[in-house]
Parts: sequence; structure tokens; C-alpha cells
Amino acid sequence: MKCSCCGENHIICPGDITSRPSQFFAPCPQCNPTPRPKDKPVSSGEDIPGPCQCNRRFIDDVMADIYQILQKEGIFHGSEPLSSIGTPLISPGLFLRRPPVLPPRSLLIISDLIPVPVAEIAYRNVPELLGIVYHAHEIPGPGDVTYGQEPTIHEGILVCGCDVRADIFLSGKGPVVVIKKQAEMHIEFPKGIDPKIFSVEEQVRRLHPDVFIDACAGPGTLGLTAALFGVPNIVMCDVWHASVWSAIQTIRVNQKKLGITTITLYDDVKKRPPVWTGEPALICSATGNGINIQLYHGTYELLGADLPSGKRLTAFDPFDKESFRRNDLFLTAWKEKIGGEVFIP
Ligand SMILES: [Zn+2]
Ligand SMILES: [Zn+2]
Repeated sequence: MKCSCCGENHIICPGDITSRPSQFFAPCPQCNPTPRPKDKPVSSGEDIPGPCQCNRRFIDDVMADIYQILQKEGIFHGSEPLSSIGTPLISPGLFLRRPPVLPPRSLLIISDLIPVPVAEIAYRNVPELLGIVYHAHEIPGPGDVTYGQEPTIHEGILVCGCDVRADIFLSGKGPVVVIKKQAEMHIEFPKGIDPKIFSVEEQVRRLHPDVFIDACAGPGTLGLTAALFGVPNIVMCDVWHASVWSAIQTIRVNQKKLGITTITLYDDVKKRPPVWTGEPALICSATGNGINIQLYHGTYELLGADLPSGKRLTAFDPFDKESFRRNDLFLTAWKEKIGGEVFIP
């Protein structure tokens, strides 16, 4: 699918996953992946192997290639270990048992030491590089937002390429593809069986709700999972603009799989306040045979008036789960106002 950000065709859809997702990154018989020590430098004189005939390259060789560019451009002295480049994230992100062999434009690097001109050189010369994001060791986004309080916002900066990437989570109904604009979202590493996905499956199977409310939706992981498991009405809500933008892409990418025929956008979330703690504004709706998704920008605390009727199930997935769990008053009030069951995955 075409990326809504850069226009390139680098976004994976569930329909592209025909075999086990890990096959995207599995070596061909000619690949010969040879692990490099991450705590050692790369010699400036070494001839780094290029892509294999399958057009992919082992991640350690890709990182070594980037290392040599950083050294040539004077960012590294040549004594730094390979791991000091930054955090590599693959796209699509998924649980792997061995290090990946990378197809073109599948590696995003989170780093705090690569300036724009050098990042651009790396992007031109390393075909596997999708993008580089600068960030200063903070979790992107506003964290948990309390109504009426000014949030602190952390955002990474895209220094080259594109930072829109997919994560693939496995569920009992096949892969769940979730899209994130990574500079502005926190990093999740898909695990073999993801406990949050599993808990949504479990709750939906147990309660058969008519309405699933994903109150801290992020990129829409839980809401989308509930939709896959057949809940007809999904309401997603988030205060953070990048979460809402990412959730729209998550809906688009899963459109076919969910039988969605119409996606309507009511507002451009990029032009709205980054953090909106006011009345939730409907940004996107997606409808089809037996499916109705509504996506809001705003605080879940003010949701209520427009919620579809029927048996309701609300998932709260805040950053600080412990303090949220202690907030009995809020949870009791929520049950009174919204009704149905509540769970914290
Ligand atoms: Zn893109
Ligand atoms: Zn190969």
C-alpha cells in the first residue's frame, strides 16, 4: 500500500502476508548471514558485502555499512562499538527468532547522533534504510494526560527517509497489522504471543460485546483486534494527534480484511492541536457489512454522548497502569456512565 506520508509503496497490508511473516526476513540459500560483534568497531578498510542476489542483506552488514559512512563523515572516530549507531527497528516489526535479512527500505534507525546531511548520505547509499529518527531518550507523545493539565510533549524528528512503519502482531484470527508514525509514537516490540492482544481476544470471546471502546487507542492495536474478532461497533479515542493519524492508517491497511467499504475523514488531524484534552472530535469513521469504526481525537473522560448502544466493553491501556488501577472512583463512575465491562489489558 502507498504510504500516506512519503507516497512510496512501502506499507504492508494483511493481504501481502501469504506465508509466515518471518519469511520476509529469512535468508535465501545464498544469503550467508554472518553475525558481527556489536561491542566492537568496524574497520574503515573493510569491504562490506552488498545485497545478496535476493536483493536483501543481513542486518549486521547493513549496520556496518552505515558505520563506515558515519566514520567517513567524521561522526565516528573508529573506536565506537557497532551498537552505538542507535536502535534498529525493522518494518514490518514482528517477533523473530534470529536476526533479519533486510529487504529494501525496511530498516528505521532511532539515533541521537546522526545530523541531517550525513543521514541523507546514508539514505542514498544504503538501500535497506527506510529512515532515521532523532530522539533524545524520551518516550514520544504526551504520556498520560490529565484533564485540565498542560502536558509535556516529546516528539522525535525525522532526519531522512520515512518513519511510517508497520508492526505485525499475531492473533487467533491471523496477523494484526498496525501502522505507526514512529518519530511520534513509543516503541513496541511484538512478542510471540502478545499479552494485550490475547487479553482482548479473551474478553471479546467471553462477553460478546456489541461495542468495544478502545479508550487510549494509540495506533489502534486493541480496537482493531476487537474488530477482527467480530465486534460490530468499535470506538477508538486518543488525545495525541499522531496516535489518531496512525490509527487512520491502521484502519486503511486493514480495510479489506475487515470488510470496510467506506472510510470517511471529517477533519485533518495534522491541523488540530497536538494534544486535545477537550470534547472528543470525530475524525474518521469506517463502515461496511457488520462493521462500524469511529475514531475520535480527544479525552476519553468526555466520551459518552455519541456512543453506539448495546453491550459495551471498554479497554483502558494507559502508560501508567498502576496509578490508573488505583483510580477506583473513575472506574466506578465510568461503569455508571458508560455501562458494561471494563478491563486493563
Ligand atoms: Zn513512507
Ligand atoms: Zn539472499
